[in-house]
Formats: sequence, C-alpha cells, structure tokens
Amino acid sequence: MKPLDMTGQRYGRLMALRLQPERGLQNKTLWLCRCDCGCDAVVDTQSLRNGSTRSCGCLQRETRHFRGSATNMAKVRTKIAKRSIAAVSGHSGTIDTDWDDA
Ligand SMILES: [Zn+2]
Repeated sequence: MKPLDMTGQRYGRLMALRLQPERGLQNKTLWLCRCDCGCDAVVDTQSLRNGSTRSCGCLQRETRHFRGSATNMAKVRTKIAKRSIAAVSGHSGTIDTDWDDA
C-alpha cells in the first residue's frame, strides 16, 4: 500500500516535512517533522494522526515548566493585590517603588 502523503500537514506543533526512507517499530511509516519551536522530530504516522505526538517534546517540557511556575504566579498576584490596597489607602505615591522581591 502506498503510504499516506502527509507532506505539509500540521499535527499540533508538528508540520510533516517528508517521509523517511527507513521504517520504525512494527514497520511504521516515519515522518520527518518540523516543530514550531524550530526542532526536527521523526514521528510515526500513527502517532501524528491519533494526536499522541504533537510536538518534538517541547510541549511536555513547557507544560512541566508552567506547573512549576504556578507558585511564582501566585506570588505575583499577591504582590499586585498588595499594591492595589496601598493605592486605595492613600499610598499612591509609592506604587511604583515598593515592588520588592519578597
Ligand atoms: Zn518543539
């Protein structure tokens, strides 16, 4: 059977560039893909089409990073809340100076 031509098709962050001459596990068709982040990845047709692989791996890395930074985001929101309180309580003159790293 002729392999499906997926050249130029987009799967998540991956764009199928060209069919690879070699086959993967279980004789799977492999595609060279270009990720939005600029990396290349070789992914089998099935993983692309069923959505199990949607990036070179950067998506997973970013998701992990985002989870890790949730605490920092909470800190930033707290700071903004404190600044708002300072502003309404008459300390508007200091609103841009008390942004410390606590
Ligand atoms: Zn990537």
